[in-house]
Amino acid sequence: MKLIDSHSHLILEAFDNDREEVIEQAFSCGVTHIVQSCDNLQEIERNLILANKYKNIWSSVGIHPHEAKTWTNESKDTILNYTKEEKVIAIGETGLDFFYNYSPQDVQIAVFHEQIKIAKEVSLPLIIHCRDAFKETIELLKIEKLEKGVFHCYTGDMETAKEALKLGLYISWSGILTFKNANDLRLIAKEIPLEKTLIETDCPFLTPLPYRGKRNEPKYVQYVAQELAKIHNVTPEEIGEITSNNTKKLFGIT
Ligand SMILES: [Zn+2]
Ligand SMILES: [Zn+2]
Repeated sequence: MKLIDSHSHLILEAFDNDREEVIEQAFSCGVTHIVQSCDNLQEIERNLILANKYKNIWSSVGIHPHEAKTWTNESKDTILNYTKEEKVIAIGETGLDFFYNYSPQDVQIAVFHEQIKIAKEVSLPLIIHCRDAFKETIELLKIEKLEKGVFHCYTGDMETAKEALKLGLYISWSGILTFKNANDLRLIAKEIPLEKTLIETDCPFLTPLPYRGKRNEPKYVQYVAQELAKIHNVTPEEIGEITSNNTKKLFGIT
């Protein structure tokens, strides 16, 4: 089975002792590409070192809603500069997180808005993080008519998912889809056309069953694929093929 992990955080401390091993294992378990998500402008350098070391590791550049308060007058230019790097293929992850509120909500909204505009300016897809702020997120995306992007680790309702699809955006499923209490999410996943679906780990977080509670890693994206296959009544191989094609199309990678 061939799979792409469309969202990972391999530079985090959780992988400091065995990063290379984790990556090699993922590749030997059928993971063909890994898209690294960037949370802040300190991380991007390390993401790039990793991406430049491995042919099929790529990275976004941007500021996570948790870190929106770190935005400065120079952030836009810094992000724009990094988009010139060959391995930088998306803006983000950005969005709104009104669950944790690690940055004030008005700051999150302003910094998200800036990054939507940057994505449009440079024609790169946007990686959207959203928790407990789906109404506000969709509103901004609609104002800017953002067409290229993905709601990563989707946990919203059906209505928001349909609004996202109307804009042309993709929906990405994480290990949460395998959790016992995720029936509502599985019902939504069934309604989302596979041509608009991506899969991811968001590792080291959100480890799918049967490894829930342990550290997540890219090779476990297979369990998200298996769950999605059950939901759509197709084979995991088909899920792998369709979501891989979608991911390549969205991020413009081969
Ligand atoms: Zn996220
Ligand atoms: Zn993430």
